[in-house]
Order: sequence, then structure tokens, then C-alpha cells
Amino acid sequence: MFSHGSPNRDRSARGVPKPDDVSRDRISHFSKGVIHMTATVEHSDLLSADLLIGGKFRQTSTGGAYDHINPSTGLSQASVPLAGTAEVDEAVTAAREAFRTWRKWDPVKRRRTLTKLADLMRAHADELHTVQALESGIPISMAGVLVENSLNWTDYAASAADKLSGEVVPSTPGEIFDYTLVEPVGVVGVIIPWNGPVGSLGMCALPPLAAGCCVIIKPSELAPFSASLFGKLCQEAGIPPGVVSVLPGGAEAGQALVGHPGVDMISFTGGTATSRAIATKCAEMGKRCVLELGGKSADLVFSDADVTKAAQEALGWLLVTNGQACTLASRFIVHTDIYDQYVETLAGLMQGLKVGDAIDPNTGMGPVINARAVERILGMVDRAQQQGATLLTGGTRLDLPGYMIAPTLFGDVDNSSELAQDEVFGPVLSALRFEDEDQAVEMANASQYGLAGYIHTNDLSRALRVAAALETGNVGINGGVAPAAANAPFGGVKQSGLGRLGGIGGILEYTTIKNVQIRL
Ligand code: NAD
Repeated sequence: MFSHGSPNRDRSARGVPKPDDVSRDRISHFSKGVIHMTATVEHSDLLSADLLIGGKFRQTSTGGAYDHINPSTGLSQASVPLAGTAEVDEAVTAAREAFRTWRKWDPVKRRRTLTKLADLMRAHADELHTVQALESGIPISMAGVLVENSLNWTDYAASAADKLSGEVVPSTPGEIFDYTLVEPVGVVGVIIPWNGPVGSLGMCALPPLAAGCCVIIKPSELAPFSASLFGKLCQEAGIPPGVVSVLPGGAEAGQALVGHPGVDMISFTGGTATSRAIATKCAEMGKRCVLELGGKSADLVFSDADVTKAAQEALGWLLVTNGQACTLASRFIVHTDIYDQYVETLAGLMQGLKVGDAIDPNTGMGPVINARAVERILGMVDRAQQQGATLLTGGTRLDLPGYMIAPTLFGDVDNSSELAQDEVFGPVLSALRFEDEDQAVEMANASQYGLAGYIHTNDLSRALRVAAALETGNVGINGGVAPAAANAPFGGVKQSGLGRLGGIGGILEYTTIKNVQIRL
């Protein structure tokens, strides 16, 4: 058994092992085929959070301004104009006007225009990598995973734009001809979070655009720059003014968008608690919504699993967004026979991580988003120890600039405790023991969330049996990744969401079906 990391609850770096280099091959399965950062981009040029309304960019707004802090340095780096209700009104007016023509565009022309957007995003991948690192602290070494993911979704949505066919409905020959039309739902408010903002743009803004809808994107004030850059690329691609608006802002702008009668549908990605008010308002107004929410995903590691590979994959998840991913596997439910070996391997990998500035290409894991997140995460760490969990490594803030938390692993976590039940949204993982398959499934399903589930086993029958038994929207077996692909459905059950992104079904979410009957 390995020796436990220092359970030092002092939030200074004293007693914390200095992280050193993480071996690249340990995470190589995550970065295979991904675009890598090649060029140096002038950072200050990227820190513009202009609003985009009716095809025009502006730096002023009525919702105040937000002093944007780089999470890697803790230093102010830009002032973000926040959209107020006046800008939401203007964007809705522009979108409604644009919808009159955008909905009638030849779908082939729409496909070509969105393909041009995908090409421009690919050409500007370096900027997208960099801006994401600066705004949300996602390491430049991993940012390519999310940019590549976004590009895949953009390619897919673009290619689907001219393939949304209706059908001929069987009816009495010679008397009735009956068919359906697939029509865009209208103006869609796209509210996205700060973690993985470039990925969210591809996953959430492109499907409604492909369906012929206009989108008003409201990025979080914590990560507004990539959305502004995306707006610029949309204009350059030839998407008509008003079809895409970008309104950096906080809750006020989000609420105004949800409550606006000119917005037909909401696509919301964010916290489960925030979603409740949004779903309630949408229900009151008879508005459709797609909700992509939080998770507390379990990874079931069976005794026949490849322990090293399973632990490397756990680490890979942790790295993608510094422990701040909705689909992050954060509850490791491990067979008791291999539990010690597993936690030792995982803790060793975590201790080898180089934590630091997201913009440094040698950084393995970056910061959490802000000082409030540090307090919240360390509070959960303290309470986990009070509730009897064993701190195996980490548990402290690192003595580095910015908001760096040591990669943290707890063992012997009680499945009903706060740590096992609530989203930490930071680099804090839990390990739990199980003895048989039924117990493992029961433990995994004992959660309000149902976003993703992971399984590690070499027994195919067991893998398929457990995949069917997990109460989640997505399952990854032996390294399967959720969200896997733009052409696959993605979304949650229980408190993790409503509706699906991905695949043709994810584009049809933004359409209505009209039936037309002709008496001959
Ligand atoms: P959040 O709920 O605080 O904010 C999300 C977005 O909603 C932001 O743009 C925010 O400004 C806006 N907002 C806040 N209050 C609002 C209101 N009352 N009305 C309308 N809009 C409002 O979430 P966050 O902290 O930005 O993101 C983290 C959460 O997002 C986590 O729970 C994570 O699991 C979840 N998430 C889910 C997915 C998914 O696909 N399922 C993907 C990424 C993140």
C-alpha cells in the first residue's frame, strides 16, 4: 500500500508535494488526432468581448462591466461589457428580422456557409486554443481536445443543414396527398457556461443554425472572449446580420433572454440549480428548452480491468478542464480486490501532474475558475475529512499564482456523503469499494444525476449488462468518452438534463414538424 499524501489542511503549499512533469503518453489517448497549438498569438488581441448585434460589434452596453481575471495568474486582464435588457431587446429584434430570410435560405447555401464557418474555425484554431486558456484556464496542452470537439460538431451540423427531410405520409392513393415539412423553431437563446466554452459553441449554437434558426448566444461573463471571436468568424463566413448575436453577460442577461416573448426556445448548458428557474419560466411561457446540466459520474472498475489504463483514463478526464467538466468521472467505484492497487496508481499519476499556468505548453493541469471556486472546493475537502473520508493526495491550494488546487483524491468515501453526491467542479476525486456487480450498479445509480457512466472490465457480457443498468444518458466502456461524437446523441437523465445534443435528433430538437394534406 502506498503512503498517504499529506492531509495538511493549511491552505498554503507547505507539505504539498511539488508536482513535476506528467508523462505525455499517460494522456495520449485523450489527445490523439487533436489539433495542437503551433503558433504564438498576441494575447491582448484576443481579449475582446465585443457584443455582436445585428451584424455590428460594439464595446458598450447597459448591463455594466466585469473585470475579467485570468484564473492562471489571479490578475485582471480585460474589462467585459455586460449585456443588459436593452441589448437583449435589440438582439431579439435583429434576430426576428433576420429569421424572416434565414429560414428561407436554400439549405445547400446554408450548408456551404456553415462549412465555411467550420473552415474558418479550423484556420483560427490557435486563437481558439489560446483564448480558451486565457479565459477559463484550460491548459493549452489540452485545449485542442475541446477545440477539435467543437470543430467536429460544427462540421457535422454544417453537413446536416441540407438533409433535414420531411416525409410523405401514407394516405389514400388518388384522393389525398399528405406530407410533412421540417421547419426551424425560430429564435433560440443559447446560454452557455464558462467551462469548455469553445466546445459549447460547437455543440449548442451550430445545431439550431443548421436547422435554420437564429441564435442569440449568451456566454458566461467568466468566459466571454471565445464567443466574441466565434461571432467574428460567423460574420466572416457570410452568415447574415442578426442570425448570430453574441451577448456577454451574467444572470440578468440570461433571465432577460429566457423571459423575452421574441425568443422561441432556450438551449441552456449550466448548473442544475440555475436550470430550475429557466425551466419554470419556459413552462410558464410555453417555450421549448433543451437543458444540459451537471453530473456526478461514476466509473465502475471491475477486478478484471486493466488497472493502469483505467487510472490513466481517470487522469485524462481530470486534465481536460481541470476537474471542471460535466461528464468528469469523479466517483470511482472499485472492486475491493484491486482497490488498493487502483488508488495507489491513480494517486501516483495525480502527484506527477505539473500544475500551472494554462498558457504554458508544459502545464498538465491548470487552475480552477476563480477565488470563489477555491473556497467552495476547499470547503468540500474539509467537510469530506470531517465526514471520515481518507485524504490520499492533495487537499490544498498550491503556493502558485492564480487559483491552483492540488489534484486531490479521497479514499473510502461514503456514497451518501456530500463528496459522493454533489458536483465538486474542481480536481477532487473520490474512490469507493464494492464487492459485487449488483452493489456497484446500485451505488452508481444512487445519485440525483444521470449524465455519464463509465465501466472498466474485460468481460464483454458484464460490460453490456452494466451499460444497460446504468441510469445515465451516456456510457463509456474501457475508455469510451462522453460526449463521444457529433453524430451521437448526448445528454442526461434525472437531474442532468432534458433533450439531446448530437446526431440528427439533436438538430431536429430545433425544428417543428408541419403536416400538409392535399385533397386531390
Ligand atoms: P451556471 O448555471 O452558473 O451558469 C450557466 C450560464 O447560465 C451562464 O452563462 C450564466 O451567466 C447563466 N445564468 C446564470 N443564472 C441565470 C439565470 N437565472 N437565468 C438565465 N441564465 C443564467 O453554470 P456555470 O457555473 O457557468 O457552469 C458549470 C455547470 O455547467 C456545472 O454544473 C456543469 O456540470 C454544467 N455543464 C453541463 C454541461 C452538459 O453538457 N451537461 C456542459 C458543461 C457544463
